[in-house]
Amino acid sequence: MRVKVLGSAAGGGFPQWNCGCSNCSRFRLGVLKGRARTQSQVAVSPAPSAWFLLNASPDLRQQLSENPDFAPAPDTRGTPIVGIILMSADVDCVMGLLHLREFQPLHIYATSSVLRVLIEENSLFRALERSLPPVRWEALPLDAPITIFQQKAAGGIISLTCKAVPLSGGYPDYVSDALRKSLPAEEAVIGLELVQNDKRFFYAPSLPGPVDNWKCCATGSNLALLDGTFWTDNELIDVRGSGKTAREIGHVPLSGADGLLEQLKGARNVRKVLIHLNNTNPALDEESAASRALRDAGWEVAFDGMEFQL
Ligand SMILES: [Zn+2]
Repeated sequence: MRVKVLGSAAGGGFPQWNCGCSNCSRFRLGVLKGRARTQSQVAVSPAPSAWFLLNASPDLRQQLSENPDFAPAPDTRGTPIVGIILMSADVDCVMGLLHLREFQPLHIYATSSVLRVLIEENSLFRALERSLPPVRWEALPLDAPITIFQQKAAGGIISLTCKAVPLSGGYPDYVSDALRKSLPAEEAVIGLELVQNDKRFFYAPSLPGPVDNWKCCATGSNLALLDGTFWTDNELIDVRGSGKTAREIGHVPLSGADGLLEQLKGARNVRKVLIHLNNTNPALDEESAASRALRDAGWEVAFDGMEFQL
């Protein structure tokens, strides 16, 4: 399984167009040692010329066109993208679908509730249904692995399974109260456990809810690509002077007694990588104390173009 990071920042990217925080300002001045980042996007390939997109970021068109892996073969119309798996109905997870509306019969997986948000309430996404055959919206069960790819190969059958791990998050603000009331909370935000040849990849760019929901998946994986949005719980309040805590908007902070670093302190056999960094996160500055603390704790920070082979 190949895992490719096409984007590694939280919503807004880094630097964010309307943000003058210390990180964004110092980056523009060229005095912050760190990289620019597009909004989080990951792709997984179980076999040559076959890719699954995990979410569909607002930067998807740029991320695909800058990457030769996603180009159609010369003189053909088509795509190596065989499916898209949506992990919530957040704008940052679904907006990129609209970049894929050029009459391509795609398979789009999400929980039943996220599909209802997109199809029943947001008719703009019907633009995807103009292809022949139309896109297939596929409901992902919770906590039950399903096979999403199978192909005969020289050494046997290549098979990729996907399990939706419920994370107890919330539905986005744009969902109407009427629909929200009819949707089960456990289908709002999921993590993904992808398994091929006994290699496990756990992806969760948002970690809301109780630790027990995801800790086993993270510690039992070969590669865990996890929520690196905020360094502290109060980060947004400290920068803006008001607002919500990291936990209130569905992200476990990295630091602190019950932060992500502390939760996975014992997980030594897992490659632990952070993704979805908000522009305020001090870990974007490679010379910061936060960056040093991450490295010392055995964590890496994903960057656009980072790749893994499992
Ligand atoms: Zn900023």
